[in-house]
Amino acid sequence: MTENQTKSMAVQWVVPTAVSMLVLIIMVYNFSTKSRDSASDTVSKNMTTIAEQCATNFTEELTLLEKVGEPIAELLGNSTSEKEVQELIEVAMKHSDAYMVYTCDDSGAGISSDGSRIAIGETEYFKQAKASNKAQYIFVAKDDMQDQDAIVVSIPVAYKTGAGYLLLFYPLSKFENAVKGVDFAAWTYEALIDSKGNIIVGAGTDNGLVQGTNIFTELSKESPEAVRKMKSRIVGRISGLTSIETGNTTTAFVYVPISMNEWTLVSSVSQSYIDKQVSQQWNNTKNMLYQLIVVIFIFSCVIVVINVVSKVKSNEKKRQLEVKADTDLLTGLNNKLATERKIQEFIAQNPNAQSMMFMLDIDNFKKINDTMGHAFGDEVIRSLGQQIGAIFRATDIVGRAGGDEFIIFLKNVADADAIRKEAKKVEDFFKDFKAGEYVKYSATASIGVAIYPQEGSDWESIYKAADQALYKAKKRGKNQLAFYKDEWAEVKPKE
Ligand code: GH3
Ligand code: MG
Repeated sequence: MTENQTKSMAVQWVVPTAVSMLVLIIMVYNFSTKSRDSASDTVSKNMTTIAEQCATNFTEELTLLEKVGEPIAELLGNSTSEKEVQELIEVAMKHSDAYMVYTCDDSGAGISSDGSRIAIGETEYFKQAKASNKAQYIFVAKDDMQDQDAIVVSIPVAYKTGAGYLLLFYPLSKFENAVKGVDFAAWTYEALIDSKGNIIVGAGTDNGLVQGTNIFTELSKESPEAVRKMKSRIVGRISGLTSIETGNTTTAFVYVPISMNEWTLVSSVSQSYIDKQVSQQWNNTKNMLYQLIVVIFIFSCVIVVINVVSKVKSNEKKRQLEVKADTDLLTGLNNKLATERKIQEFIAQNPNAQSMMFMLDIDNFKKINDTMGHAFGDEVIRSLGQQIGAIFRATDIVGRAGGDEFIIFLKNVADADAIRKEAKKVEDFFKDFKAGEYVKYSATASIGVAIYPQEGSDWESIYKAADQALYKAKKRGKNQLAFYKDEWAEVKPKE
C-alpha cells in the first residue's frame, strides 16, 4: 500500500469511525448521567408506590367499617324495638373488623354490642362525633370500655325518636398488620400522623418515635431542617420521598396522605437501603450500556476491517489490471504506451539524471517472416524481448515499441565510460543471440543510442534522437550500434 493509499484509508474509514465512536461515547455518557438520575427517581417512585399500597390497605380496612355501618345505620333508623337495635349492632360487629359497636342517642346514652348500657355523653370522641352530621373517623386513645386505642367510625342515625349515632371501633393494634400487608422488609418504621405531627399509631422498629409523641418535636431535637422538610410534605399533603439528615445518619421518609381527616402515613427507611436500590438500578443500566458499547465497537471494527480488506483487494486487483494494461502480450515487456509513460515519469522526477535510450530494430525481419513463417517471426520477437529484458536492472525501462522494434532506457548512467560499457553490452548481446527452440536462428538488430538530457531533454526529442541514431545504424549497413553523436564511440571502454 502506498503512503497516499494509507492516508486515504485513514480519511475514509479510521477518522469517521473514530469520530462516530467519540459521538457515541458522548451520547452514552449523557444517557448514563440521565439514567443515574432516573434510577434515583425510579427508586423514589417505587418506594412511594409501596407506601401507597400500605396506606390503601389500611384505609380499606377503615372504609369497610363505614360501608358496613351505613346500611345498618339506615336500618337502625327504622327500628321499632331495643331488641331489633341490639340485633342490628351485633350484625355490624359480625361483618366488620370492629372490636366493639355502640349506638346511642343525642345525649350519649345507648347500648353496646356486648349488651351493656353506655353513657358516653362526656367523652371527647362523642363530642367530635356530634360536631358533624356526616360519617367521621375519630382517634380514641384508650376507649372507655376495653381500654384499647381505636379509630372510631361514627355514622349519624336518624332514629324515630331523634338524632343518634352508630359508632364502630377499629382496633389500632391491627394497624401494624394492615401496613405490613405489602411485604417490604426495608421499612424500619411506619406511623399514622395527624396534620400537627402527632403520632396516632406507629409500627415497626422503634426509632424513638412512639405513639402519643409528636414527630416534629422529636425531630426538631435532631434537625430543624428535617422538620421543615417534613412539615412541608405533611401539611402540603404531597406524597413522595425526602431524605433527611438527623445527627450523623440519613433517613429517607416516604409520605402518603390518606383520605381520612388530614392524616398522613409516614414510613421511614435507612438511606443506605435507598442508595443500594439506586446503585442496583444504575448497575443494570450500566451493564446494558457496556454491552451496547462493546457490540457497537465490535460492529464498527468488523465494518472497518471488511472495508479495509476489500479496499486492499480492489487496489491489488486495480494494480494487476494496470500491470496487464501496461504489458506487451508477446514479450511480457512494457508495451509502447507504458514505456513512454514510465520514461516521461522518470524524466519529470529526475530532470538531470544522465540516462541512455536505446532503440532496437531487428534486421530484415520481413525476410524472417517470409522465409520462416509468421509464427517463427513471433518466436524471434518473444525470445529477443525476454533475453534482452534479463540483462538489465529491474529498475531500467525495457519495452516493445511495436513490430520488431524495442526501446531500452537505462537510468542514471554516470559517465562516458559507463555509456560505452552499456552500449557494448547490447552489441555483445547480439553476438550470441539465437532464437527458436528447434531451429537456432541468429537474428541481428540495428541499435540507435541517444543520451538524455544532452541529446533530448523531453520524451519527444530523446525519442527522435534515438530514432535518428537507429536510422544511422541501418544506413551504415545494419547489425551495428550507432550513437546519435558519434563522439561517444570514439574512446574504447576500459576493460
Ligand atoms: P529493416 O531491416 O530495415 O528493419 O527491415 P525489416 O524487414 O525488418 O522491416 P521493418 O522493420 O520495416 O518492419 C517490420 C516488419 O515486421 C513489418 C511486419 O511485417 C513485421 N511484423 C510486425 N509486427 C509483427 C509481429 O507481431 N509478428 C511478426 N511475425 N511480424 C511482425
Ligand atoms: Mg526491422
